[in-house]
Amino acid sequence: MWVMWLDHNIFGRRNYWLMEPSPRLSWNVRKMVEIKSIFKSMIRCQLRNGLKASFWFDSWTDLGPLIDLFGAMGPRELRIRRDATVWEATRDGQWHFPNARSLPAEQLQVCLSTVDPPSPSRGSDWYQWKQPSGSFSAKFSSKGTWMQIRQVSPPVPWCKAVWFKEAVPRFSFIQWLAVHGRLSTRDRLRQWGMTVPAACVLCDAGLDSHDHLFFECEFSRSVWVSFAGKIAPNPPISLSSAYLWVLSVQSSPPHLASKILKLLLQTSIYLVWKERNRRIFSAEANTIYATKSLVDRTMRNRLISFSPEDTATRISLLGFYFGCINSPP
Ligand SMILES: [Zn+2]
Repeated sequence: MWVMWLDHNIFGRRNYWLMEPSPRLSWNVRKMVEIKSIFKSMIRCQLRNGLKASFWFDSWTDLGPLIDLFGAMGPRELRIRRDATVWEATRDGQWHFPNARSLPAEQLQVCLSTVDPPSPSRGSDWYQWKQPSGSFSAKFSSKGTWMQIRQVSPPVPWCKAVWFKEAVPRFSFIQWLAVHGRLSTRDRLRQWGMTVPAACVLCDAGLDSHDHLFFECEFSRSVWVSFAGKIAPNPPISLSSAYLWVLSVQSSPPHLASKILKLLLQTSIYLVWKERNRRIFSAEANTIYATKSLVDRTMRNRLISFSPEDTATRISLLGFYFGCINSPP
């Protein structure tokens, strides 16, 4: 419905290619206008009746958008308006141009010698999207398009420890901020000139910084290690090591321990950060026992929604978690 509304009220009334990103447009529409230069390489027009295809801006020949071939003076040279449709370049069913006076005009005329002029009997013009393979198709995939226009960076080692199927989105977000050292810890606030105490509110013994909170702090380390240590021996207490560790832990059946540890790591980060904020902003405090109970409850609530993955043993993630947590120390 939103697309229909846009088509009727915004893009149906004016030529998209001639629109400027005016502040009067909504944010969404302005962004659509700002990506015109990217967009034009992603779409190709199949010419039929020529009433929709933009003569200058759509790729309706093998030459690409003709405005790029001719430059800004093209409309004057061919005596075709900037907002003209392809239909307007015909007369009596034939292509109609002034005599070619430039190389682009010659190229165009050579090219059009193999292109049928638009005709009402051929139906409406339609568009094709560029596919990741480089070919064009009527099928549009937002993922395929995004993968073509995004700037690809090398994969980061922590990626699969933050974004994974069993993850909780709001936990992943706080974890992602922690990976980048972007949480508003007191050491950062002080660097920005704010007058705040430096001490960690969880233990009163260290500084409120990323390294300390995750997991040098006695409080947070106890939360993390008491659970993680039951899943696999020697959990690291630095965040950068913990990411690699949760991805590499082996188990039988395979992958179960790693999945649980990934969830446990982000749950611990989230709930430690939440407890830290509670102590600062509401002057209330959960004991370490209460925080551990909350971690355990959160883990169970999340794991219960996943059915057994190992079809041979019928062991579920929750069953595996119980087996580890309830084992004797
Ligand atoms: Zn501390």
